Amino acid sequence: MNMNDDKIKVTLLGGDAPINFETLDFEGNNIVSYGSDAPVLTNLGKRMLYGPGSIFFAHTENEQIRTDELYEAVNVYKSIYYKIKSSGKMKIKVGILGCTGAVGQKFISLLRDHPIFEIYELVASENSAGQRYRDRVNWKEAVPYSEKTGNITIKKIGDPLDAKILFSGLDSSVAGEAETFYAENGFAVVSNSKNHRMVDNVPLVIPEVNKEHFKLIHSQQSYNRSGGFIVTNPNCAIVVMAMALFPIHRDFGLSKVMVTTMQAISGAGYPGVPSLDILGNVIPHIADEEKKVETEAQKILGVLSGNKIDFADFKVSASCNRVPVRDGHSMSFSFETKTKATKDEIISSLRNFKGLGLASSPEKVLVYFDSPYRPQPLLDANSGNGMTVTVGNLRECSILDYKMSAFGHNTIRGAAGAAILNAEFLLEAGYIK
Ligand code: NAP
Repeated sequence: MNMNDDKIKVTLLGGDAPINFETLDFEGNNIVSYGSDAPVLTNLGKRMLYGPGSIFFAHTENEQIRTDELYEAVNVYKSIYYKIKSSGKMKIKVGILGCTGAVGQKFISLLRDHPIFEIYELVASENSAGQRYRDRVNWKEAVPYSEKTGNITIKKIGDPLDAKILFSGLDSSVAGEAETFYAENGFAVVSNSKNHRMVDNVPLVIPEVNKEHFKLIHSQQSYNRSGGFIVTNPNCAIVVMAMALFPIHRDFGLSKVMVTTMQAISGAGYPGVPSLDILGNVIPHIADEEKKVETEAQKILGVLSGNKIDFADFKVSASCNRVPVRDGHSMSFSFETKTKATKDEIISSLRNFKGLGLASSPEKVLVYFDSPYRPQPLLDANSGNGMTVTVGNLRECSILDYKMSAFGHNTIRGAAGAAILNAEFLLEAGYIK
């Protein structure tokens, strides 16, 4: 296993047993010797993929490694990788574009003690540039920013940056041009803004749903020239809808969806909707939202075909409302599937949604409640540290096949948390050069 700056290259060793190799520094620098079978890396206490001669490796070309054993071994390598990152010696520098805004603040709060990433640079508008973060920000998060972050001097777009990865929570009026500029200059731009989401060769990804779409990065000219690229995560309402519908589409094929959203005030940034307009009220329109909700899910649930995505062929009709909830978007939808399914089959499909085991992955990606009174913003906003989407109340619909409720945290799973998860995957998959 060779380590350099931010990658681990795992090499399968051949030759005659026993073979010695060193465990990593932080594990005590032990020498572990291997016999012919079931090797154990002492300090990790777990079996490793190894061979030849090991039960975890094919002895001859005709033998096969069992898939579960292969996954188990890969997970051990992943855990070593994260241990190195979390040892604090090798954190990767990241920058936050739009650091003063609602999404920017959520990035700073989620990255405060992140095992892999270290906040290194902050960027906002010319009004903020040149000021220390602590002197400029109107902090709204419950978790305070660290002293180190507070002392960072904010830069403006175009100033030189050292960070490899840039998380973008820029206002959409500037995000398009700024993100392109950074990608062309060699940065990995992981964006929340709408500007590039529907561009053909820009991945729009929820890693548990469509991580293979990241392959589109290879067709971005900037990637081949400078290693820079742009990836996006979905609109904060779409992420909830796409995650709730993904297992159903995978197993039965969607044909129609009708959705009514009830979206939190924090989705409009700060100061957002005036309090006198929203307290005790519901506003039946959110500018530009319905178009996004009616189109983005088909890209996410589409299939990669060369340098583009063949969109999923179901229709969505959306009605979007702003409601007096602080955090978390709720929605009710009815849907029709191409292959008919029983209620139990749909619920078991929803419950069969596997996570990825990345640093920001929740224990459960999707939770289905049997109680018809869930999900609720007050009870479920922090489920899985804000990364779990909750669904419930599946019942028959008199117009389409079924209807149900879904809920997710808009600034975590719907924005900063989603982008951080994307970056964790991109790093692990070797996209970040
Ligand atoms: P916000 O609170 O209004 O913050 C906007 C940020 O952009 C601020 O840091 C602002 O910096 C910066 N900015 C504005 N003009 C700029 C310029 N000319 N140059 C550089 N920086 C500039 O907005 P937000 O709610 O965080 O949303 C940010 C983005 O994420 C938007 O594109 C939004 O659509 C998207 N998004 C939001 C949510 C959500 O739930 N809030 C969810 C998903 C996606 P200054 O303070 O210096 O002006």
